[in-house]
Amino acid sequence: MGRWTAWPRMSGAETIPDEFGQIAELFRPLTRGAPEAFNLLDDAAAIPSRPGWDMVITKDAMVAGVHFAPDAAPAQMAQRLMRANLSDLAAKGAEPFGYFLMVAWSPEFGWDKRKAFARGLELDGAQFDVSLLGGDTVSTSGPFTVSMTAMGWVPSGAMIRRDSAQVGDLVVCSGLIGEGWLDWGLGLGAHIPVPRLDLRDTLRRCATAAADISDGLIADAAHLAAASGVGLRLDIADMPVSRRAQAWIETQPDMGLARLRLATAGDDYELICTVSPDHAEAFGLTVIGEVTRGGLEVFCGRQPLEVTSGGWIHH
Ligand code: ADP
Ligand code: MG
Repeated sequence: MGRWTAWPRMSGAETIPDEFGQIAELFRPLTRGAPEAFNLLDDAAAIPSRPGWDMVITKDAMVAGVHFAPDAAPAQMAQRLMRANLSDLAAKGAEPFGYFLMVAWSPEFGWDKRKAFARGLELDGAQFDVSLLGGDTVSTSGPFTVSMTAMGWVPSGAMIRRDSAQVGDLVVCSGLIGEGWLDWGLGLGAHIPVPRLDLRDTLRRCATAAADISDGLIADAAHLAAASGVGLRLDIADMPVSRRAQAWIETQPDMGLARLRLATAGDDYELICTVSPDHAEAFGLTVIGEVTRGGLEVFCGRQPLEVTSGGWIHH
C-alpha cells in the first residue's frame, strides 16, 4: 500500500529492497506459479468459480509479543500463522487452495528476518500445497504484525459447521491433547502444530459439527455446544495424551486437575467434533463425551470437575 513518507531502505547494515523488490524477492516465489496470482504484478487476484463447490475462507492475525514471543524464530512465526489458518480449514472439512498475506514489518525486522519469514511460508506452502495469491506489505513502528486469509474448497453446502451438533451425538477429538502447553512448559519453545487436514474424509463422512482446538479442548467444545444450542458431558479421563504428558500427570498431586490443565491449555490445533453414535468407530478419533440437552459437565472418571475458566480465551 502507498505511504506518505519514503519507504525505509536501511535496517542496521542490511540494505532492504523497496516494496516492489520485496514483493518480487520474498513473496513471488510463494505463488508457486498459481495463475490466479498474476505473479503479484496486478492490483488483485482472480479466482474462477468452481461449480459444485463452496469456497471456505478464514483469517488469523498474529502480533509479536502477543501471539508469539518477540524473539521467536521468524520461520516459526510464519509456520504458526499458516498452520493456525489451515487448522481452521481442516476443521471445516475443506481442501486448502490458497492464501493472502498482510505483513507489517517492525523496525527490528531486518532483511534476513524477512527472508527467514518467507522461507517458513515457502516450506509450509510446499508441504500443504497452498499458494500465495496476494496481500499487502507495510511497515510499522509497533510490533511485527501479520495476518493471513486462507481459502479452501468443500462440496457445495458441505462445510462442517459448529452449529449442527445433535443431542445424543458422541463428542470425539483427534490426536493428543496438551502437547502445545507441554512444549512451552518444557522450554521447547513454540509448538509447531500439524493441521489435521488428513482427517478431511473422515470428517466429511462422520462429523455433525466440528471446530479446531486453539483455545483449549474444553473451551472449544463449549463454543461448539453454544453454537449448536446443546450441552456436553465430557470425561477428560478419556482424553488422549502422550506418554510424556502421562508422565507429567503422574507427578501431579491431583490427576483430575492435571488433566484439566491439559484440557484448558490451548494451542493444540487438533479437532473436536460430534458424530452420530453409529459412527463411533470414526478412524483416528477418540470418544471423550456426549452431547446433552444443556449445560457443560466435565468429569475425570467419576470425579466431577468445576471449570471456572473455560481455557484461554484470546481477545
Ligand atoms: P495496491 O497498491 O494496488 O493495493 P500493492 O502495490 O500493495 O497493490 O501490491 C502489488 C501487488 O503485490 C498486489 O498483487 C498485491 O496482492 C501483492 N502483494 C503486496 N504485498 C504482498 C504480500 N505481503 N503478500 C502477497 N502479495 C503481496
Ligand atoms: Mg493497485
